[in-house]
Amino acid sequence: MTEEITSFEQLELTPEVLGAIRKMGFSAPTPVQAQTIPPMLDGYDVIAKAPTGTGKTCAFGIPLLECLRLDSKDIQAVVICPTRELCIQITEELRQLAALLPQVRIVSIYGGQPIQKQLAALKKTPHILVATPGRLLDHMGRGTVWLGNVYTAVLDEADEMLKMGFIRDVRKILNATPGDTQVVMFSATISREVMDVAWEYQHNAVEIHVAAEGDNRPKIAQFELLSSGERRLTDMCRIIDELELKRVMVFCNMKNTVRRLGDRLRKQGRSADALHGDIPQSQRNKVMEGFREGKFEILVATDVAARGIDVDDVEAVFNYDIPDENEYYLHRIGRTGRAKRHGIAFTFLSPDDRFRIRDIKKYTHSEIRDIAIDANGCVVMEDGSSLKKYLEKGGLPTG
Ligand code: ADP
Ligand code: MG
Repeated sequence: MTEEITSFEQLELTPEVLGAIRKMGFSAPTPVQAQTIPPMLDGYDVIAKAPTGTGKTCAFGIPLLECLRLDSKDIQAVVICPTRELCIQITEELRQLAALLPQVRIVSIYGGQPIQKQLAALKKTPHILVATPGRLLDHMGRGTVWLGNVYTAVLDEADEMLKMGFIRDVRKILNATPGDTQVVMFSATISREVMDVAWEYQHNAVEIHVAAEGDNRPKIAQFELLSSGERRLTDMCRIIDELELKRVMVFCNMKNTVRRLGDRLRKQGRSADALHGDIPQSQRNKVMEGFREGKFEILVATDVAARGIDVDDVEAVFNYDIPDENEYYLHRIGRTGRAKRHGIAFTFLSPDDRFRIRDIKKYTHSEIRDIAIDANGCVVMEDGSSLKKYLEKGGLPTG
């Protein structure tokens, strides 16, 4: 690319797609969009490394829509992603992008949803299919999905998908597409498995790296707090009340903690709900929708259940448990500070977690400041000054 892309007009999109982008309120492409859309439009394979919240869905969604042949009765593009929630979310974003192209059929299929409903949707021959690998393979086996005319295959959150043991499924899916299919991969990290799949299925891929730095780095003020056991709940509520937080995500490492914490918050009369893998799919969708629409204030979730979930104005993220993996820390706090807003992240530490948090700081290059609840129940910084005042004085953004 010789020309630097700074506006959507430069991409020479069709009026329908451009109009939809405007309707969505986007004024300029994000860096990953500026770099991905031109080579994808030219038919190149792309491997893009970009942190969450950088606009990857539209980065592939826009070229997918631009390249569709609406008269075709075959699936032309398949997007595979690791979780049902992500599936739903990508489908919603693609439908918004296709708002002015009512002929475009986009269908999502994922595990946990009744297969009958999906069969009916598939009968209408989608142009774009968004799927989790397992359910997609299931349909391919039944003969209800045929990928023999697919033009583009997108692997979203490839590292996560391949790590979750889907690598064999993903291979089977890609093997069912034509040999010259455009393969586009998005990943927060380029893991060994991602490299393997790229090597096997991509040709002359355009490599894109978007760093989580400068303008791209979400503006998140990060804090840590020594607090264990029963105190965590009290301390968290103190923080929520003092900062008057209205939209909060709380991460726990285990389903049971999620479930219990959700119940306890509700018993205290707080508006909270929970999201974890054991909750039936229909209810999970309802919970997600409720949170997005602001029907309740506190969403408690496990990492997997919250993967890729995109709610724009989460004010604060709580790491009720410190995550086991450094990367999860970034994924979790990336739920806040999205779309150029500011965010706050709190991590609760047991005395034993000191080494873990040091490791996370090193890995993420984050500045995480100590806070505490003082004798009067106020949330204070290390020097005893009020956190609330600090934030009001423009302590946001840090880093
Ligand atoms: P990622 O997949 O990289 O985590 P998403 O595709 O979910 O990111 O996008 C994150 C948020 O940014 C979404 O709310 C999306 O609607 C919004 N967004 C996408 N593109 C733009 C843009 N060009 N300008 C402003 N906001 C955008
Ligand atoms: Mg995404």
